[in-house]
Amino acid sequence: MVRPADVEYLRDYNDASVVAVARRAGVFDRATIASATGLTPQAVSKVIARLVAAGLVEPDGVRRHGVGKPASVYRLVPDSRYAIGAHVARRTLRMVLSDLTGRVLQTVARPLPPDFTPGRLLDELSAGVGALAGECRAGRLVGVGIGMVGPLDHAQGVVRDAHRLRHWHDVPLREMAAERLGLPVLLDKDVAAGVVGEAWLGGVDVRDAALIMVESGIGAGLWLGGGVYRGAHTNAGEFGHMVVQVDGPECVCGRRGCLEILHDRALAAGEAGTAARVLAVGVVNLLQTLDVDHVVLAGADLLPHAATYLDVVRTAVRTEVPRADWLAVEVTTSRLGTDVIAAGAAMEMLNERYGLPREPRPGERVPGPGAARPGGGPPSRA
Ligand SMILES: [Zn+2]
Repeated sequence: MVRPADVEYLRDYNDASVVAVARRAGVFDRATIASATGLTPQAVSKVIARLVAAGLVEPDGVRRHGVGKPASVYRLVPDSRYAIGAHVARRTLRMVLSDLTGRVLQTVARPLPPDFTPGRLLDELSAGVGALAGECRAGRLVGVGIGMVGPLDHAQGVVRDAHRLRHWHDVPLREMAAERLGLPVLLDKDVAAGVVGEAWLGGVDVRDAALIMVESGIGAGLWLGGGVYRGAHTNAGEFGHMVVQVDGPECVCGRRGCLEILHDRALAAGEAGTAARVLAVGVVNLLQTLDVDHVVLAGADLLPHAATYLDVVRTAVRTEVPRADWLAVEVTTSRLGTDVIAAGAAMEMLNERYGLPREPRPGERVPGPGAARPGGGPPSRA
């Protein structure tokens, strides 16, 4: 016997599947949804009726394909739901408002004082939400996604020990922010949020990717097998703290010769080419370990020298990966620019409510309702 909670979950999962397909397809009909999700035509009709009633989807006339009967087509309503994304860096808070398709509608950036406290961040978040939420129609804001420097625990919503931020030891930021803002809040590492944003925009072609973030520190967001990879403690991606010079200079993490300290020293000395070279060594190490085929370079410290970094990293990938002709890797800069973390955090919030942990390729069946939800939280009704 199926308990009511399971039925609710299945309905929610089916709704989310249809929204995910709709987001990619633009306009769609029942057959598009049925073939992409594996749902029966009857189930598809029920889901579409629910989504139309909720305002997420609207009819868009009929289309005739070949000789068959004309089919009713539908489209997603972009402004039916919004999310706010926040990027908490060591010196700035950047926030975006995004619609249901993930498009960034508005951005606000606010400086953060050196060594800011949790209370100060909550004040700034609250002011930012106030500035952005005015653009949404009432009742359409689903929540706030926060991408922050780690180490942090995404599942528990707790910042464990943000490097170089004294007041951030075991701070339950998700709970504190939800209480202060009166909205659902999701907390993730900055780099994990960023790679979700890049993968969302890249669509189903992006199966295995790394986002390398260079902005007061260096981290890597990992997208493996078509989903974000966070690791056993949700702290994967401390890429800058891989040692590349045994007995090198001491790093903030306590070890010596980390990629981050060598890179940052070179960049501070005005040697962008050397800094890029250090980063490239790390990127090749990562490729040798994980075999991703997309590397996205991002971050406020890298973007002013984007051409140098792209050139140096691409050369290293071409010449230092054995059989680079076979292990082809695309290296680009972020298509979301300086918004990448904030926009990714907003997309994560939308994904938690209206998305899938792993988007299927066209024609591929989605995993069953037992699959893990992004965010690790309980499933919620769309
Ligand atoms: Zn280190």
